[in-house]
Amino acid sequence: MKTDVAVIGGGPAGLAAAMEAKKHAKVTLIERNEELGGILQQCIHHGFGNFIFGEALTGPEYAEHFIEALEGVDVLLNTTVLEIDKNKRMLLSGPDGVFEMEAKAIILAMGCRERTRTQIFIPGTRPAGVYTAGTAQRLINIEGVMPGKHIVILGSGDVGLIMARRLTLEGAKVEGVYEIMPKPGGLTRNIVQCLHDFDIPLHLSHTVVEIVGKKRLEGVFVAKVDKNFKPIEETKRFVPCDTLILAVGLIPENELTKKTGIELDSVTAGPVVDEGMETSMEGIFACGNVVHVHDLVDDVSLSAIIAGREAAKHANGEKTERRKIKVKAGENVRYVVPQIINGRDMEEITFYFRVKNEMRNVVTRLIVDGEVRKEKRELIVKPPEMVRLKVKGELVKNANSISIEVKKVA
Ligand SMILES: Cc1cc2nc3c(=O)[nH]c(=O)nc-3n(C[C@H](O)[C@H](O)[C@H](O)COP(=O)(O)OP(=O)(O)OC[C@H]3O[C@@H](n4cnc5c(N)ncnc54)[C@H](O)[C@@H]3O)c2cc1C
Repeated sequence: MKTDVAVIGGGPAGLAAAMEAKKHAKVTLIERNEELGGILQQCIHHGFGNFIFGEALTGPEYAEHFIEALEGVDVLLNTTVLEIDKNKRMLLSGPDGVFEMEAKAIILAMGCRERTRTQIFIPGTRPAGVYTAGTAQRLINIEGVMPGKHIVILGSGDVGLIMARRLTLEGAKVEGVYEIMPKPGGLTRNIVQCLHDFDIPLHLSHTVVEIVGKKRLEGVFVAKVDKNFKPIEETKRFVPCDTLILAVGLIPENELTKKTGIELDSVTAGPVVDEGMETSMEGIFACGNVVHVHDLVDDVSLSAIIAGREAAKHANGEKTERRKIKVKAGENVRYVVPQIINGRDMEEITFYFRVKNEMRNVVTRLIVDGEVRKEKRELIVKPPEMVRLKVKGELVKNANSISIEVKKVA
């Protein structure tokens, strides 16, 4: 089987990439599930598409906008990409067995997976009633099954917060959300709308230190942690519950990427990409959560539109210069995407980054060849909230050194 552009993953990233690429090339969209939409199909709350559509849609409504625009794209459902090689040949497994596909360009849009109990080493027994937040969300919103009645949530990222509200609305008692960090992990809007509005307590600098129960979970021991995140023994207490929801982070799904030999960023755990979302392997592009974990789906779709457009250009034989200028994460910046500027002709480039520490009254700055070329005031920047700096493409096209920094306003 042959195609111009193969898109791996039918979530919001894959959908937008396919929608854009099909304007210029033959596109095949490959999704391992039986339906398109990715994680959006189970996110029935509002809050998707505020920027792109100017209205607060549910996840399925947001997905539908893109699914409807797919006419002309070959969609393969129930099909998993198992391997990719450097020549853009793929091994796939579908309803009729294993087969090969060759593409002129590939777009990686495999999203994220959740961290589990094993990855955060919670000691104790192994009873039923311990779920990741995404699994619990799927059980309630798609399967129509309540995971439990008395709930403890570990982790205050957006997924944990949304589940605290969802479980409460469905009649469960959420005993509390426990967060090991001294500050919440999710967006402020979700802290207010999901916890404060429902009187759900948030215990910062706390963690679950032991899981108790034989067949079904009977409760968890929680404890306050010191500044080195070590549980303080004297603060240990038992919280009875039948369900523990783990919302302890997402990891970009990059097993395929790694096996193919594509360079990964050790901070984001996603591939290093340039301003056209091309990875270190020519003709292989990436977008959405597979690159770095996004807060908002709108940014996922925007990155995917760039990947779709640039992948189609590659498939049509357009060559890209490879200047490989690294974008340095400067003062108070944990990481920046794109990590590389290759000097493509682009009207605008948006740098996405996260800060290391919360700061008020700051300027975010683009420094090119030692000079400040763009500045933007921000009232507050926080590690859980992604920051954007949109610049004209010509500002960085011929640069020899680029960095992004966050400085206190003098
Ligand atoms: C619980 C939750 C609540 C959220 N709430 C909001 C919100 O209110 N507002 C907002 O703007 N954003 C929200 N988000 C964020 C937003 O949903 C994500 O950023 C977005 O879904 C990421 O899109 P994606 O396409 O990169 O990944 P995904 O949606 O995860 O899609 C990836 C797809 O790739 C497929 N796939 C993976 N590997 C393969 C393979 N090898 N072969 C074939 N297919 C494969 C998967 O099956 C999946 O369908 C929320 C996210 C979660 C988890």
